[in-house]
Amino acid sequence: MRKIKGLLLFFTLPFFLISCRASLYKETRPSMSTLVAVLVSGVAEPDWQELYSRAEKEAALFDHRLPGSPLKELNEGRSPELPVKLIKVLRLAMEIAEKSGGAFDPTILPLISLWNFDSGGELPDKENILAARNMVDYRRVKIDAQGVVELPPGWGFDLGGIAKGAVVDQIADYLNEEGYENFLIDAGGDILVSGLKRGKEPWSIGIRHPRSKDKLIGLLHLGGAGESRAVVTSGDYERYFEYGGKRYHHILDPSSGYPADNSIAVTVIAPTCSRADGLATAAFVLGPDQGLELLEELPGVEGMIIAEGISGSREYLLRTTSAFPLTAEELKLAAEELRSLEGEEAD
Ligand code: ADP
Ligand code: MG
Repeated sequence: MRKIKGLLLFFTLPFFLISCRASLYKETRPSMSTLVAVLVSGVAEPDWQELYSRAEKEAALFDHRLPGSPLKELNEGRSPELPVKLIKVLRLAMEIAEKSGGAFDPTILPLISLWNFDSGGELPDKENILAARNMVDYRRVKIDAQGVVELPPGWGFDLGGIAKGAVVDQIADYLNEEGYENFLIDAGGDILVSGLKRGKEPWSIGIRHPRSKDKLIGLLHLGGAGESRAVVTSGDYERYFEYGGKRYHHILDPSSGYPADNSIAVTVIAPTCSRADGLATAAFVLGPDQGLELLEELPGVEGMIIAEGISGSREYLLRTTSAFPLTAEELKLAAEELRSLEGEEAD
């Protein structure tokens, strides 16, 4: 009898082990005007259709352009019943606005609309910028304990600086609910990692060269069993137009009404992707000194800011918070990589 049991174990154990061995499943689909890639280590493939259709639904919550969306209705002066998830993101946006002294401001819509980035972008008149600037101020927003939001008439929320991160957090929640612990989600540079790759090794995340899209300046290795971290990069190379030899990009300094010019790329690591997203936009506007000061004092947050010496000079300044997870040697290599464009066309 014991022999039969032993034989049974001998034959069934390998099958059992094979079926338990996690595979790495990958999928990439367009969503939120970018490509959203998801890598999952698990014993069964996720239901991709369900995952991406949930992401679309979540993204719609934060989209002020979408007819009938709660955010659009709010911007149009109505008082729609706001979904809890939207209230949560609005509260986080307000928290980041306060912490950054308004460098990040979710009421940026009048300025963003004026620059018309949705249709490629155009340089507005100074007077119009001044007028729109007076309709941007997070301090005029009220959110009460019940989640009722008040905004001055004619003003508008634009959650573009935090929405992608918020959707990534929702995808992570969905995967957790489905029992997955080890995965990476990348929504065009808004990244969240959970656990370990194949349950074994840290996830590698490349930080791209802000002036050469095929080059990396560094590689982060993040992850740990039962942990999740988000890494978000905001750069002046994502959406911009050029006019008179100058680059005008879509991260605006609410105090001037013009594209922020203190940084060219900011990478933020934070516990959630929505927080990392909002903070990356905030630190981008603040620039190396104030931006790093902000990131340094926040728990679980690290950051790297790259600024340009003289615009277009290819002299770069690279600075990080004290515990940014790159060694001194890796940072030296990153700085060398930044300077390595000599003779090449930047893109
Ligand atoms: P990306 O979308 O390229 O990842 P960001 O996360 O920095 O970059 O978001 C840029 C978007 O954030 C803009 O398109 C606009 O919708 C919004 N935005 C621009 N400037 C600000 C600002 N100062 N505060 C809050 N949101 C902003
Ligand atoms: Mg952002």
